[in-house]
Amino acid sequence: MSHEADSPSMNFLEAIIDEDLKKGTLTDGVVTRFPPEPNGYLHIGHAKSICLNFGLGQTFGGRTHLRFDDTNPATEDTEYVEAIQQDIKWLGFDWGDHLHFASDYFEQLYDYACDLIKAGKAYVDDSTLEEIRSMRGVPTSPGQESPFRSRSAEENLDLFQRMRNGEFEEGSKVLRAKIDMSSPNMHMRDPIMYRILKKHHHRTGDKWSIYPMYDWAHGQSDAIEGISHSICTLEFEVHRPLYEWFLDQLPTFPQRPRQYEFARLNLSYTVTSKRKLNELVTSGIVNGWDDPRMPTIAGMRRRGYTAKAIRNFSERVGVARRENVIDLSLLEFSVREDLNKTTHRVMAVLDPLKVTITNYPEGQTEDLMLENTPEDPEAGSRAVPFSRNILIEHGDFMENPPRKFFRLGVGREVRLKGAYIIKCEDVVKNEAGEIVELLCTYDPNSKSGADTSGKKVKGTLHWVSEDHAIKAEVRQYDRLFKDEDPAGHKEQDFKEFLNENSLTVLEHAYLEPSLKEAKPGERFQFMRKGYYCVDLDSTPEKQIFNLTVTLKDSWAKMQKK
Ligand code: ATP
Ligand code: MG
Repeated sequence: MSHEADSPSMNFLEAIIDEDLKKGTLTDGVVTRFPPEPNGYLHIGHAKSICLNFGLGQTFGGRTHLRFDDTNPATEDTEYVEAIQQDIKWLGFDWGDHLHFASDYFEQLYDYACDLIKAGKAYVDDSTLEEIRSMRGVPTSPGQESPFRSRSAEENLDLFQRMRNGEFEEGSKVLRAKIDMSSPNMHMRDPIMYRILKKHHHRTGDKWSIYPMYDWAHGQSDAIEGISHSICTLEFEVHRPLYEWFLDQLPTFPQRPRQYEFARLNLSYTVTSKRKLNELVTSGIVNGWDDPRMPTIAGMRRRGYTAKAIRNFSERVGVARRENVIDLSLLEFSVREDLNKTTHRVMAVLDPLKVTITNYPEGQTEDLMLENTPEDPEAGSRAVPFSRNILIEHGDFMENPPRKFFRLGVGREVRLKGAYIIKCEDVVKNEAGEIVELLCTYDPNSKSGADTSGKKVKGTLHWVSEDHAIKAEVRQYDRLFKDEDPAGHKEQDFKEFLNENSLTVLEHAYLEPSLKEAKPGERFQFMRKGYYCVDLDSTPEKQIFNLTVTLKDSWAKMQKK
């Protein structure tokens, strides 16, 4: 929570809105919006903004619009429009009837621009973009006025109309607001409102030869929709005077938006820029926008993150007015916290080592009942078959174990979870001298829940019955980047900091048979391993599981070392 708010339970935006409601200044109540540009998939930063905007709408009994800021036909696509809607719904938010597109306002924006021209507040400039840039000057000294700045309103109107009609080449003319070439705020130095772009737009087709700049479209779109609190990230603070200026020139709106800025969410070990994420996709470094390693909503969903965990995370990071970096472990913590409550515990052996229980009758099977979650007896239990041939993790055996190794070694005893105590009697090696099998005995009196053996063992191992287990592919994920701030190095490309071990495919994992029916999207805790989720491409013939998050923060341990 922010410390800037009056009430300790409110963040600074809630405090502002609360005050507005008390003053009674809102003619149409609290109206917020989430305004993505459909040029990529949404990422965790957008999730923060979505939770914030929709959250404010809900908290104050208002509404929240989804508006696509689709002003740049070159990079936008309906694939993104659809993916974005799916992602917001999945996160748990609903815009009701308020799905809007900036392109729906192109005609209105054009009319407003004509109004500005008629009022002598906008002009057509024939200068090249380079000329415009060089004449803009620097913040410490005034810019130069364009030679086209004094064109008459009639001439400007005529030229602007002909720009619209497609009579001029791309780059040959722009429409600029006529504000102040000596303003210390560079955004006020006659900013460009329209450029000629003879490009196909995903919604308006070939109707337009000119497209509004974001700065011109954005504020007016908010005003048209009656947005009360237009919330954006800090980099737009310097644009605010321009947005206010535009609104001052136009007829009054029923509810005039006010802009408030908050610090964008930065996550360690993560890039949150659609451009950079797009680069990872197009270069084939990841397998698409929904690759489970991507910080996109689609990627996190496929990885097994829950919407609730992301919402909780967003609440935890709060809203700040100053730039900061949130540790990725906080997101992982939120995921663990939610999955701990909601998933069943099952057994999966990822790196199998064969165990033969020599005194267990060949061909015999017994069903052992294991609780689905120890924390919640209501979650019930399931049968897990036990037999003479078992698989355990390779890492749970050591040939020469140190004293504190509470797992298996020759002559040592452990409990098999929910089953019996076994003792390792001998090992079988292959020609290369590698251990390929353990020969163990079990104590028939040590059955879990009915143990009369009087034995005390320190270690409990997970296992599966080799004869009953299903084979699966398990995809182990690690952080995509090994640097805390991959995009923060001036001299080096962010891709140089990719973690080459971010994906390890285990093709010979064995799962207890209850997972045979697991459907894509279902989540489980693999005991002692982590939380896992059935991948989208999983089929009953070939089950594929994604590591969602380990049980503990393995990076925290590494950093301490
Ligand atoms: P990117 O840098 O990934 O391209 P963007 O700001 O250009 O992001 P938009 O589609 O314009 O992407 O963003 C939609 C909304 O999401 C905006 O209101 C923007 O302020 C917000 N947003 C984008 N990134 C973040 C972030 N990291 N933290 C919080 N809000 C964000
Ligand atoms: Mg943007």
